[in-house]
Amino acid sequence: MALKTLETLDVEGKRVLIRADFNVPLKDGVIGDDSRIRATVPTLQKLLEGGATLTLMSHLGRPKAPEDKSRLGPVAERLSELLGRDVRYAPTSGPASDEQAAFVARGEAGSVTLLENTRFDSRETKNDPAMAKKLAEYADVFVNDAFGAAHRAHASTEGVAKLLPSAAGLLLARENEVLSRLLANPEKPLKVIIGGAKVSDKISVIEKMLDLASDILIGGAMAYTFFKAQGGRVGGSLVEDDKLDLARDLLEKAEARGVTLHLPEDSVCAQKIEAGVETKIFPSGEIPDGWLGLDAGPEAVRHYQAVLQDAKTVLWNGPLGVFETPPFDTGTRSVAETVAGLDAYTVVGGGDSVAAVNAAGVAGRIDHISTGGGASLEFLEGKTLPGIAALSD
Ligand code: ADP
Ligand code: MG
Repeated sequence: MALKTLETLDVEGKRVLIRADFNVPLKDGVIGDDSRIRATVPTLQKLLEGGATLTLMSHLGRPKAPEDKSRLGPVAERLSELLGRDVRYAPTSGPASDEQAAFVARGEAGSVTLLENTRFDSRETKNDPAMAKKLAEYADVFVNDAFGAAHRAHASTEGVAKLLPSAAGLLLARENEVLSRLLANPEKPLKVIIGGAKVSDKISVIEKMLDLASDILIGGAMAYTFFKAQGGRVGGSLVEDDKLDLARDLLEKAEARGVTLHLPEDSVCAQKIEAGVETKIFPSGEIPDGWLGLDAGPEAVRHYQAVLQDAKTVLWNGPLGVFETPPFDTGTRSVAETVAGLDAYTVVGGGDSVAAVNAAGVAGRIDHISTGGGASLEFLEGKTLPGIAALSD
């Protein structure tokens, strides 16, 4: 979808309202990972250089009402360090309140103000027009850079975009461009790695990729649902027993379309998920009772690596094992190294997958790291995201 971009906006002397994705992990007021804040800085800098006055908004967590642990104060502080200038912030009952409006109005030309958590207002997730209207009163133009929230039609994403001249921020525009190209015109062969916890989360992406990919590499816990569906023994591995038919159906569909689905031949197994426990390698369809498949085994990793070699485009979503707990990070790390070294256009999406690629230290050698977890998935399923549709040209 072609989007209205920042270049189409004249922001000199204008008040610009920006929806960002500052939904960072926050514990006891400390930000765990600030990459989402950093990702929006180029958009903010460009607007400031253009002479705009900025009012920023974001959700953080899923509060149902104002609560201290979800306030955006720590985000304002971090953003101020990153921008090298003051970020105005005042804790309020919500972003669309009279006290917030008065605070915004006191901001000088060229200042940066961060509104309080959009989810403090229960009207946000209902895409309530009255909330969107109040937010729109803060500005002359609206810029949405919150790709991570683009799959939701909320007052601060879709609602306000309809009330002001709007455009996509740099981050959102790039996500839209890369993922659109991946779906419409990927350089072939396209090989897809799908892992993670549940088949049910990824079923629509797998189906969509059956139209585009030559090979689909299945890993992570979801592989055991496939093994069980084929009559294998998977011990205590994570299985979705109500998805066995679905797994069989996917295997058949792949075969009918000439797409090869690769399952991990062997697994690194243990009796519990704990760092440093005893591990054994079993064939993934012959795991004894009391043992859990927790990572791709050495044969499986070699197989994945061999299949990936001639790829021209790679899409990866979902870790291949319990990467948070060593030694079950080995499979994911090895494949991350391989993907980073390929002569291919590589895209990684999904919250945990991005964390895994960062932990493996190869993020800099991946062509595109998609910042939106659920939004990336829905985009790759081929859905139209309401936050993006509202910015279409
Ligand atoms: P993403 O966030 O990248 O979309 P998911 O949320 O689907 O990925 O899956 C990530 C989770 O899957 C991780 O917490 C990881 O520990 C878990 N996981 C991967 N393999 C296994 C396994 N074999 N057994 C249990 N959990 C697994
Ligand atoms: Mg996840």
